[in-house]
Amino acid sequence: MINIIPVVFGLIIGSFVNVLIFRLPSNASIVRPASHCLVCQNKLKWWLNIPVISFIILRGKCSFCSHKISLQYPLIELACAGIFILIFDISRPFITAGLCLSFSFLLAIAVIDLRHFIIHHSLLAAAFICLLPTVLRPGFIWQYHVAGMIFCPGFIWLVSQSVKLMNKRDNLGGGDILLGIVIGVYLGPYLSMLMYSLASILGIGYWLLASKAKEAGKDSVPIPFGTGMVTGMLVLEILLLPPFVSSFKFLEIIVFTDQFVAEMLSLL
Ligand SMILES: [Zn+2]
Repeated sequence: MINIIPVVFGLIIGSFVNVLIFRLPSNASIVRPASHCLVCQNKLKWWLNIPVISFIILRGKCSFCSHKISLQYPLIELACAGIFILIFDISRPFITAGLCLSFSFLLAIAVIDLRHFIIHHSLLAAAFICLLPTVLRPGFIWQYHVAGMIFCPGFIWLVSQSVKLMNKRDNLGGGDILLGIVIGVYLGPYLSMLMYSLASILGIGYWLLASKAKEAGKDSVPIPFGTGMVTGMLVLEILLLPPFVSSFKFLEIIVFTDQFVAEMLSLL
């Protein structure tokens, strides 16, 4: 049965993630003004501000001006609730809370990058700090996390430098490299490599779709690679949950290899 606690917290934090996504890119305060319609500016009463439920009751329209409310609101709230359900573990409250918040900040980073091609540094810092209870859990192998923290951004930096040499122009933002530090400290070096494989597939898929939509030369289509990195990380996180790992042999091999890498690094 689905536990109600992660659902409620997921929906509430998801609603906050929406505020971050809509306000941070324009440097607006995330505290003031209170929730309001972006078109008619009317303040929303609390009962019009309940995650997902209000959207359904209002049928996706503002109750004052009937302007359409973005479907992104309920989708982000549901995505957060989904993430919280998957990683909820009452026996490890600090680690669970840290992971839930960190993944929420990463979700905001991914959506902002997709919409604006920027990676917000304050969100990166928040995501990194919230990962600390997981990274510093009892019995942690520090070499594994340090290696991830160096390899993950180092790899993307090397790729971007090589492409720059060939193309003679910048292709990746510094934000992607900083995002590599945050994801790398969590995933370690081996899983970071798998995350990049998934992110590249997503990036190529995006590029193909975007180039098709855009008639102008294919070179001019920017790729929100940060979105791909976060999505790759979340997909890995879901695939490596115990019920999936016990049903698919190749996932078991991935977990085994990751543990082997961690043990090798612990000898350093
Ligand atoms: Zn309105």
